[in-house]
Amino acid sequence: MTDGPVKRAAERHAAELLAPLLAARPAPDGWRLVSWDAEQGITVSLGRGDVVVTAEFEPPDPSQRAFARTPRFNVNVRRSVGPEGPLTADERRAVDQLVSLVRRRERSLPVVPRAEARRGSEVREVLVDRVLMPEGGGRYYLNPYAGCMIGCAFCYVADRADLSRAFDGAAALPWGRWVDVKVNAPAVLREEVKRHAPGVVRMSPIVTDPYQSIERRYRVTRGCLEVLVDAGFEPVVLTREARVRDDYALLARARRAGVGFSIPTDDDAVRAAFEPGADPIEARFEALAEAHAVGLATAVVIQPVLPMNVARFVARVAPYVRLVRIDRMYRPERWQGLYDAVGCPDGGTEAFYARTEAALREGFAAHGVRCHDLDDLAALFEAR
Ligand code: SF4
Repeated sequence: MTDGPVKRAAERHAAELLAPLLAARPAPDGWRLVSWDAEQGITVSLGRGDVVVTAEFEPPDPSQRAFARTPRFNVNVRRSVGPEGPLTADERRAVDQLVSLVRRRERSLPVVPRAEARRGSEVREVLVDRVLMPEGGGRYYLNPYAGCMIGCAFCYVADRADLSRAFDGAAALPWGRWVDVKVNAPAVLREEVKRHAPGVVRMSPIVTDPYQSIERRYRVTRGCLEVLVDAGFEPVVLTREARVRDDYALLARARRAGVGFSIPTDDDAVRAAFEPGADPIEARFEALAEAHAVGLATAVVIQPVLPMNVARFVARVAPYVRLVRIDRMYRPERWQGLYDAVGCPDGGTEAFYARTEAALREGFAAHGVRCHDLDDLAALFEAR
């Protein structure tokens, strides 16, 4: 553990990089800055009308597809609020302007020498200035921690989160061996909720799991939930951990609250291979049923779809959820050894995904459960 709480330099460096954008409100061409953060590389969301476009500045990697490249970043873009489909010419132009700004200014981004990696894990207590992040449409996201000790092999965010650690000069540690604890998050949030209209708050969308084991020690997630519930916000927590049960009573006090479980398979041997640090599948099934029983809105995220018995999976999940979200493994070729080890060598292929996804959709439809394609669990309040 670190000596005492520290402020992350990544936030300061990103603010300097984006300074003209942060000062120009509204941003050029009628687009407004919706939010930005520096927790998984640099993420910037621009909004106009009912549409929000999110640009993610990731580590440079010529082997990966990207919307644009700069010497320091691959840039990927998606419409995070608004209709599905490709970006319009207008949206592309807005992001092009943002990329040009970064290209002009990124030379001043420091290359910070990294601390030497020590053995074991690193728990860093950090102080934050902001924790409630608007994402457009009256919605927010909130990460009580950054980094994740569960350390799933396939976690999409590992390289991006390491880029932020590089800005901090923090040691390069394998994913799953570090976590930043935002020790003052509840106190900061208490002030933020006075300035923002109540809305749905997703916790945590990707860079951490709000119920990793360290939550029992720090209770940052619980502290934030207490503030949100008292202020009339509507939290939706997403987790791989049955520990979320600790907060069911608190969540049940909210005007509306939701729990989403990430459950990518019904087979615990598969789980043990791909996400050995996460809770057993049976524990998640049980916690899901319990959340439903206490009246919370519930969803299951099947992402990445792993080898499974579809009929058995649907039977365990469908009675307890309002919606499910299904998605494929990102860069499955990296995990071929794991697919081989669990006896499903074609598990990473597009054909396997298409087959399994179709069977899941059919199975859930037969139970009247909606499959939702957007990366937005807040939709579970509108489902059914
Ligand atoms: S629980 Fe989520 S954030 Fe944590 S390692 Fe697994 S996929 Fe990544």
